Amino acid sequence: MKTITLLTFAAAAIGAPSGPKAPVAARLSVVATTPDLASLARAIGGDAVDVKALAKPTEDSHFVDAKPSHIVTLNRADVLIEGGAELELGWLPPLLESARNSKIAAGAPGRVVASHGITMKEVPVTFDRSKGDVHALGNPHFLIDPLNAKIVAADIADHLSRVAPASASVFKANLQAFNTAIDAKVAEWQKQLAPFEGAKIVTYHKDFGYLAERFGLEVIETLEPKPGIAPSPSHLARVIATMRAQNAKVILVQPYQNRKTAETVARQTGATVLDIAQQPGAFKGTDSYIELMDHLVRTLVSGLQGDK
Ligand SMILES: [Zn+2]
Repeated sequence: MKTITLLTFAAAAIGAPSGPKAPVAARLSVVATTPDLASLARAIGGDAVDVKALAKPTEDSHFVDAKPSHIVTLNRADVLIEGGAELELGWLPPLLESARNSKIAAGAPGRVVASHGITMKEVPVTFDRSKGDVHALGNPHFLIDPLNAKIVAADIADHLSRVAPASASVFKANLQAFNTAIDAKVAEWQKQLAPFEGAKIVTYHKDFGYLAERFGLEVIETLEPKPGIAPSPSHLARVIATMRAQNAKVILVQPYQNRKTAETVARQTGATVLDIAQQPGAFKGTDSYIELMDHLVRTLVSGLQGDK
């Protein structure tokens, strides 16, 4: 750090060209609610966009800590990408109201609702919000299926092209590159997980159903009795019995979930707790969506193999 400062100072002192950077075309300011959506926006927008995520990689997408700085960020945004299907219901609407930005109003080209192109799973037939379930419109954790990531990436490319038509060809090329990369990776991930087809897994929240279905795993239980409801002793007793009966070997836990509860269940079932995440950046070396998925598949393979 010190060396760089001194060099910069020295360069300035002798009149070397270290001054203002060459002017760049104004970049679109893109705001994503979560880091996974932000990663897709970076892949598609490339140099034409500046992307910020509101939620931290280690934050629960349902319960993000809303800050005044989020209002400023949303006020200056050209494009907003949200997961939709009520994923952000608990925190985004009041921020948007305060931000007063018509460019990202519902229905505007600058507003991307990722769930719109997705075939939602687990859509409830009847629903009672008073019970605290947070998956009212179906399971909103669909981006963990890489084929859904392709659908959302295409939607992002479409909206960015409408907001900045001059860069449409760039977005189209970036989308093609992203799709090619995902297709190659899906083949790789399928190969890595193929030996574990039908393996029974347990998750804390209902957040890995789309992944399980894509790669042939089976989520037999969640530690939460309902999405967003804390585990109760009676529910956990049922989970333990089911895990023993069906020989489930792993419990998936994200950084913001209660690992101690998972450890207690693991001790009584001989299972292993796997630290995983859905958000890029939650672990070192997982800054992009693909890196995050690589990490996830690697962790699953080692857990299902019984490595410690
Ligand atoms: Zn959820």
